[in-house]
Amino acid sequence: MAHDGSSRSLPSTTPCLSYWQRTTRAFPHLFANRNSTVPEKSKYVIIGSGISGGLTAFELLETGVEAEDLIILEAREAASGASSRNAGHVRPDAFRGFSAYAKVHGTEQALKIIENERLVLQKVDEFVKNHNVQCDFNLTTTFDVCMTPEFAKYEADSFEAYRQAGGDTSHIKYYLGKEAQERTRVPGAVAAYEWPGGSSHPAKLAQFLLQSVIQKGARLFTFCPATEVKQNETSPTAWDVHTPRGTVTAETIIHCTNAHAALLLPQLESYIRPNRAQAHSIVPTPALAAENALQSTLSLRYSLYHFYSLIQRKDDGTLVLGVSRTNPTLSEETLASRFSTDDTRYNEEIAQDAVRNFGDLFPSYSSEGSAHGEGVDHAWTGIIAMTTDSVPFVGAIDSLPGQYICAGFNGHGMARIFTCAPAVAKLVGQRQWKDTGLPECFQFSPERLSRLSAGDLPSIW
Ligand SMILES: Cc1cc2nc3c(=O)[nH]c(=O)nc-3n(C[C@H](O)[C@H](O)[C@H](O)COP(=O)(O)OP(=O)(O)OC[C@H]3O[C@@H](n4cnc5c(N)ncnc54)[C@H](O)[C@@H]3O)c2cc1C
Repeated sequence: MAHDGSSRSLPSTTPCLSYWQRTTRAFPHLFANRNSTVPEKSKYVIIGSGISGGLTAFELLETGVEAEDLIILEAREAASGASSRNAGHVRPDAFRGFSAYAKVHGTEQALKIIENERLVLQKVDEFVKNHNVQCDFNLTTTFDVCMTPEFAKYEADSFEAYRQAGGDTSHIKYYLGKEAQERTRVPGAVAAYEWPGGSSHPAKLAQFLLQSVIQKGARLFTFCPATEVKQNETSPTAWDVHTPRGTVTAETIIHCTNAHAALLLPQLESYIRPNRAQAHSIVPTPALAAENALQSTLSLRYSLYHFYSLIQRKDDGTLVLGVSRTNPTLSEETLASRFSTDDTRYNEEIAQDAVRNFGDLFPSYSSEGSAHGEGVDHAWTGIIAMTTDSVPFVGAIDSLPGQYICAGFNGHGMARIFTCAPAVAKLVGQRQWKDTGLPECFQFSPERLSRLSAGDLPSIW
């Protein structure tokens, strides 16, 4: 079984730990059932225990599925994929991606995509409040900070295109020059846009979902990769899910395997592609600590494809700095290394670039030097799932009756899963696509696959 950069691979078996994982090692279900054999039968099998898998399980139980009828298979420790390795942003795109989405999916769908992201933030906020989820969710505002006049022009054009198409911009504020610099605290800012956004401790959120369904009676099998799904020989409506610890027969299978979806669904091989992404945690110097802590999250953009994302955690003041997958200042070798499923280590050149840029963006951060213990604390990687039309695959796989998918989040799942996973749960419960409220372009269909070119479309994240 491949563990390489191919989309038909299992996750690597020796992943590094992220800041989020390092701070949640006491989660009691981290290694749940790691030595047990899987049951011979289960009505529902969810493959993948990230936020997609966990929330799909949670929602299925809410719709009346018996917890004892549901198992979750996870290739590594609980929630050890992108959900526990991201940059912590729960950040809807308010308008930037509109033109790019419109080119691929048309104006109406592009409007729906942007509206859906705004809804996700609201859904996460409601979910966290309703279930008292201790995941350090911080509902605040977020800035898109334009660091060059060229990018300021791009943003202005996108904003105008979105507005003219009828998009709601009433929640977006715009700042130019000195005002942008003061609001964002970034002296080099050319312009900035601000709208509601948030951050969370994604591993705590993923673990809450798993804990909750396990408490109700669902079973999680960690270190138990699904290696093959085959039609059952005696029942035409059942599937055999093969694992190294036995074969489980199920009527309903939900693929929540994100970047690795094509291993079990080879028809997706050309359309869902793993890319390695990297993030860093930084302990602030006094310039960004205590009353100087950042109150909003930021996306600091030199161009559409060269940017840094930044959140500062309310709970411990840690800064989490994410980086774009492309960056013109990096070597060819480093840029090529993103086409990988290897999350065992981080890339030193990317880390150095990120920290250097962070210092340039916030000169006050290092103006007085740093004490031992301040500065970069940790760096890690994770694997994101890019789809060739920049939107996730959601819904029934009609050619494989009983199988569903919720995957392909383009490095942007925190702003999408909270509408997509509940949608899959509805579809499993025989509701119609229109009941999901999702943009139609998210729906998995053979027509969509045949429309897709195998070429990479621009990443919108
Ligand atoms: C460095 C980085 C920064 C990011 N920053 C952000 C951000 O700030 N905001 C944002 O919105 N998004 C961000 N993302 C993306 C976000 O984390 C993902 O979109 C989201 O976590 C996807 O969730 P998921 O549950 O679909 O996939 P995952 O969390 O990847 O879960 C899939 C799970 O399936 C398991 N699996 C795979 N194949 C098999 C198999 N065959 N059998 C059993 N188990 C299997 C994996 O081990 C994994 O646990 C970032 C990602 C990375 C890596």
